[in-house]
Amino acid sequence: MDLDVKNTTKRYGHVTALSDLSLTIPAGSLTCFLGPSGCGKTTLLRVIAGLETAEEGQILLGEDDLSDTPPSERNFGVVFQSYSLFPNLTALRNVQYGLECRGWSRGRRRARAEEMLDLVHLRDQAGKLPEQMSGGQQQRIAIARALAPEPSLLLLDEPLSALDAKVRAELRSEIRSIQQKFGITTIMVTHDQNEALEMADQIVVLRDGQIEQVGAPRDLYAHPQTRFVADFIGAINLLDISANAAGRAQFGMQELHIEGPLNGATTLGLRPEAITLSDEPAGAENSLACTVTNTRFMGNLQHVELRPNGAPDQLLQVEMNGLAQTPRRGDQLLANFPANALLVLR
Ligand code: ATP
Repeated sequence: MDLDVKNTTKRYGHVTALSDLSLTIPAGSLTCFLGPSGCGKTTLLRVIAGLETAEEGQILLGEDDLSDTPPSERNFGVVFQSYSLFPNLTALRNVQYGLECRGWSRGRRRARAEEMLDLVHLRDQAGKLPEQMSGGQQQRIAIARALAPEPSLLLLDEPLSALDAKVRAELRSEIRSIQQKFGITTIMVTHDQNEALEMADQIVVLRDGQIEQVGAPRDLYAHPQTRFVADFIGAINLLDISANAAGRAQFGMQELHIEGPLNGATTLGLRPEAITLSDEPAGAENSLACTVTNTRFMGNLQHVELRPNGAPDQLLQVEMNGLAQTPRRGDQLLANFPANALLVLR
């Protein structure tokens, strides 16, 4: 069943954490709430979980209005950043705990908990206390505990942010494969764009308690509507432009060719990997004469920084294959890109 957040407003004193926010979480999807610190991600998750009460709005699961249902009766599994396991219970007992509260029989409880421990590859740790396990293991147990009662929704509040990079990468793909295996509708709060791009079916970019843009990772990357989203997801060149007498995009001394109308925009986005460099004109719709100002070798990639000769107060970042010949500082090159690589941003 889809989850619908309708016209939800949540205030803390004078701070409006969520402002008339509406959103659909499709059944079976993994949706990430993404945005900078303070944008309202956790508040939105907590309102959905029933841990916070919104002043206005509704939370609907299918046709059911959950707005007045206490958290314990929502049948949602929640995993927090801090593993929040019961310190005096073994891994197995931690996973069984919610089943005990729901009155499952002893035999059923044990079988289900063991199944969940298998799922997170920690059956052999069943008898350990949380303090005897690593952070990654504890978070796996927390996930197993949340999934054990077969929740209708799984809510993950920055579940990976306390873990080191390697464990984080492993758990990302593990969470995603578990989520897909069970088809469980999942919401994950993160401020890590890579995490959201890699894991989500749908990303909700939040800003100041409102939705800035919602879409599949690829859509948001390829078609950001605003400067904020373009800048928040992936690396991008933001070109300051004005409309010239012909109504076209003027970038310093040069006119740029875009697809579609300019609609009064003053910024165009251009992904670094959309630019190719050449010595000679290469027949591209846009071609800017530039001076190389810096290069950075990163192994599989290299970054080249260029100053457009016709717009010397702006810089262009270009991403090239690591095996391509590295330009030298001071080289004169053409930066080439098609019209459809220029993103018109609000
Ligand atoms: P972060 O990534 O830093 O966790 P966030 O996007 O999850 O941020 P929220 O924690 O939802 O943001 O906070 C949204 C706004 O509401 C912020 O301005 C925050 O200061 C405020 N806020 C959140 N919880 C409370 C509270 N209990 N009391 C007062 N203000 C709060």
